[in-house]
Amino acid sequence: MAYITINRQNFYHNLSEIIKKSGDMEKVAIVLKDNAYGHGLLLMAKLASQFGITQAVVRDIKEANEIKTLFSHILILGDSIINRSNYSFAINSLNDIKNAQIGAKVELKVDTGMHRNGISYEQIDEALSLIKEHKLNLIGVMTHYRSADELSSELFWQQKQFEKVKNRIKELGFEDIRYHSANSATILRANSFDEDMVRVGIGAYGYNELPPIFDRVNLKAVMSIYAQKKSNRVIPKGARVGYGGEFIAPREMRVSTYNLGYGDGWIRGLYTTPNGLDILGRVSMDYISLECDDEEICIMDNAQMAGEQLGTISYEILTRLSPSIERVVI
Ligand SMILES: *Cc1c(COP(=O)(O)O)cnc(C)c1O
Repeated sequence: MAYITINRQNFYHNLSEIIKKSGDMEKVAIVLKDNAYGHGLLLMAKLASQFGITQAVVRDIKEANEIKTLFSHILILGDSIINRSNYSFAINSLNDIKNAQIGAKVELKVDTGMHRNGISYEQIDEALSLIKEHKLNLIGVMTHYRSADELSSELFWQQKQFEKVKNRIKELGFEDIRYHSANSATILRANSFDEDMVRVGIGAYGYNELPPIFDRVNLKAVMSIYAQKKSNRVIPKGARVGYGGEFIAPREMRVSTYNLGYGDGWIRGLYTTPNGLDILGRVSMDYISLECDDEEICIMDNAQMAGEQLGTISYEILTRLSPSIERVVI
């Protein structure tokens, strides 16, 4: 089967760069949602924990349970709210508060302009009284930015909105609240950092999604994908390869089949490997064809560049990869 390598040194390099920006390792929460952006949840959690990261962010309770012994605190972004001592839950709507278990630790998400999740500024007072009424333990207030990776003033506008939120919460007498809003792009473009936590996902995995004008922090891709040769043949000029016979050999060629396909989460589309080999014809469920005779070949070593070729973004390339592909730390 194809396999994925996880480069520990590159991961630690990225974490170090982010810690430099945040000023404090304690403030860095590693986002491990969606199988750690396809890298492997438990494996990345262990590496992050060995490095000294104490906080994680995941999507649901199932993910949190798999890694709970490795972190002192885990923030769960989108699941029903239960009472567990080292978990906190994002409140995405007023209903979340009403359905929460008594005593649960919660972090109020306030919508400052992305209009995806969270309560509005106008609902803050109501949310806080509901939180009191339902005996929840409010430990954090957070927001999420819609355009942190774009060269525009939108980020600053949203940050201003979040300042207003913080002031209102303080006015209402809530203390010992941690405030956090930054994702990777926000921390990578920041000149200073004064919040309590940064939720870092894509940057830790090696991708700086900011336009080149910002690119000062050099990150290194953590994941590579390798596939192995399964069969091999010489085909004459004019022969066709794969479903639909879409590829027509322009000359006699030695064509090999490698064991990675869309069933593994690899996206169907025109693609050239890092060493310049075009995928010949269509991607099959479990196979691709290349003009190559090597026993093993690197299919991808940079999800951002793969995304550019395949009309998508690094995040999608990574998270689609099947959890059943073996992950090996190098
Ligand atoms: C996914 C996510 C992040 C991490 O974003 P990156 O751009 O990958 O750093 C941070 N905060 C929230 C709420 C998220 O959903």
